[in-house]
Formats: sequence, C-alpha cells, structure tokens
Amino acid sequence: MPALVLRTVEFGEADRIVHLLTPTRGRVTAMAKHARRSVRRFPGSLDLFNELRVKLHPRRRGGMPLLDRARLVRPFLALRQDAARYGLACYGIELLSRLAPEEGAGPEMQGVFDFALELLDALERVQPDERMRVLVELRALDALGMRPELRFCVRCGREAEGPKLRFHVADGGVVCPRCAGAEELPLQASLGTLRALEQGLRFPLAELPRLALGGPSLREAHQIVGRFQRYHVGIELRSERFLNQVLQAARGRAAPSGPTRAA
Ligand SMILES: [Zn+2]
Repeated sequence: MPALVLRTVEFGEADRIVHLLTPTRGRVTAMAKHARRSVRRFPGSLDLFNELRVKLHPRRRGGMPLLDRARLVRPFLALRQDAARYGLACYGIELLSRLAPEEGAGPEMQGVFDFALELLDALERVQPDERMRVLVELRALDALGMRPELRFCVRCGREAEGPKLRFHVADGGVVCPRCAGAEELPLQASLGTLRALEQGLRFPLAELPRLALGGPSLREAHQIVGRFQRYHVGIELRSERFLNQVLQAARGRAAPSGPTRAA
C-alpha cells in the first residue's frame, strides 16, 4: 500500500510508532517493531515526508496494526534543505493530516493523498513565497472537500459580479452586492482576486509561481483563504508560526534594499 510518513514517535527501547497518510485508509497509526535496530526491514525509510510502500499486519482486539515492512519510494530530499520549502511542506501536510479521517476510507482520500505527493514534489523544485502559501492552503482545502465558493453568490446562487463583492466566512463564499445590501461584511473580495484563486485551483502546483496574484490582491486572497481555513478547520495549526517566520526571512533575503519592493 502506498503511504506517506506524517510523524514518527520513539516507543520503548527499540520500537517506533509511525503515523502514515494512505490513499485507501486515510490516516493510519502503526507500530514498527524493532525499527530503531532493524536496518534490514526499515532501511532509512521512516523519516518525515518519505513516500513508502508499506505492508501492515492487522492485530486483534483493536490493537494498533504492525508495520511489517516499508520500502522507500521517494525521500523528497531537496525540500529538507531549505527552511521555506520545509515550512510550507509541514504546513500543507499538517492541514491535510489533521482533517483526513483516521482509518476512514472515503473516496476523497485518494485525492488527498495525490495532493500531498504533488505538494512535496512541487516543493522539490519551486521556491515558495506568500502567494504559493495561500494557494497551497486553498488547494489543500479543496482536496479535503472544503473549497470556498468563489464564483456564485452563496445567498442567491447567481454569478457574483460587480465592483464591491464581499466574502462571508461562515457561509463559505462570495456574496453579491444585491444580497449583501446594507449588511456589514468585513471581508472584501474583488473580482480579480476571486478569479486568480479559481485559476490557482486549476494550475499544477509547480507552476503556481506563474499565476498573477500580487500586491493588494494577494493580501485580500490571504485574508479570504486564511480566515476561511481557521473558521472551518477550527484548529490552530502547529506549523503556522514556523511557516510565517521562514517566509518572512525568505522575503527579507529577496529584498535586501528595504520594504518598498512590490509583493
Ligand atoms: Zn446574491
């Protein structure tokens, strides 16, 4: 069975508990017996983000399955050498793994797994920035079946158009000027931003740097996707602070002359 390593925890003298993401069973937690001694059965394979082929052995009475064997398919080495790439990988994978059902075989799991692999593959090749972070967040939500509505008004269903569109976080999407009326909806959503986000859903991840999204539009996109995520996911992601730090540091390196550079 294909699997991605989400986390490993040392257990006792010689064992390891391994958290895996799989396309057929969602998140799986398995016990790797003697993992810290047996180089033969687990040759360097249980590191974070490794893509594996695994064989699980079910245990009776509801015990944790045993990880029988793990073959390394791809280790994604380049993204471990760069803080921003690693930070975005941690963030995207944490978002997926917190929401993917444990031992839950749903038809969406294959899409979640494919997205995880595409993300790690893209981060081997692309240097991430704030724009990629927003789009990765949106794509992760989409893979989990939680895509915000970006085109049709969530109140009346008509295509939302006009200069002053709003975004309603709790209702999950854009609200047209007629439906918004005099209501105070704090989040602005200009048509250009919404279209760029829609386009981002269709682009291959590794090509996201080609997408036109910057300046005020990027700030707007960041607010829309970020607030939507926090509201609907309802948990604070552990890796978010780290990601913010490394992206900020990367931005500083890219623009040593000062804060005047356009995003
Ligand atoms: Zn409407």
